[in-house]
Amino acid sequence: MKVISITPRGFCYGVVDAVEIAKRVAADPSTPRPIYILGQLVHNRHMVERLAQYGVISLENTSSRLELLETIDHGTVIFTAHGVSPAVKARAREKGLNCVDTTCPDVEKTHVLIRRLVADGYDILYIGRKGHPEPEGAIGEAPDHVYLIQDAQDLERLVLPQTEKLAVTTQTTLSRWDTDALIERIRARYPGVQVHTEICQATQLRQEAAVRQSADADAVFVVGDLHSSNSNRLVDVVREQAHRPVYLIDSVHDIRPEMLEGVHTVAVTAGSSTPSDITREVIRFLQAYEPATTTQPA
Ligand code: SF4
Repeated sequence: MKVISITPRGFCYGVVDAVEIAKRVAADPSTPRPIYILGQLVHNRHMVERLAQYGVISLENTSSRLELLETIDHGTVIFTAHGVSPAVKARAREKGLNCVDTTCPDVEKTHVLIRRLVADGYDILYIGRKGHPEPEGAIGEAPDHVYLIQDAQDLERLVLPQTEKLAVTTQTTLSRWDTDALIERIRARYPGVQVHTEICQATQLRQEAAVRQSADADAVFVVGDLHSSNSNRLVDVVREQAHRPVYLIDSVHDIRPEMLEGVHTVAVTAGSSTPSDITREVIRFLQAYEPATTTQPA
């Protein structure tokens, strides 16, 4: 089968740095043990399993970062690339934990922006995904002045204390297309609003490449974790902007024959938290795929 390997795809610089830091910390014998990560370092179960082999424990459930922190009382805590709130940092220090911060510089930029805007008297509408750690960390910079909006319904329900000084900012891993539509609604409701789109360059380049390079494909596979925001946005943009059938798969084992029925050309991309060997395995399988003869991976 003809396979279009979309580029760029996969690990972004923020994830590469976070993984390197976590491995270095784990390899250093002077690092206080046990070593915990507050959540998943990146949203990919393969990476979580690999880090566990280095002795790094991912504290994973749906609790807030502050609640997760209360489940540990000694050792090292790694803050993920998604960033954490000042309250989490302060509590970790208070507990005497050795803190390692892998917050991506692009996420840190949003934190700095929020602090500056609030100091200048602004209230902020933050466009992001509910329950995702990045909004939790960013909003935690000024919880009384930042309002999380995921969709138009949230905007309709919003009651603000003042509308004179309003700004909008965004989670880094959203889709420009979705965000632009919501920002237009916000502008219509609050004409003077100051807009700061913070979708990171890595996310944007991967989305634009996915839309452009999947134009000639009969189907598209996004290799990524079900809980990865940027992988899910890749699926959205391919479906809504390139109008291609698109599947989010965790690995080659999720590929089913019916997904390839009548397909001659397939395009493959990957979320920025997906290890490249997992994506390469998908590409190799599809390249070798002969619908009549190929059996499914075990
Ligand atoms: S997706 Fe963007 S913001 Fe998130 S870690 Fe990667 S480069 Fe940083």
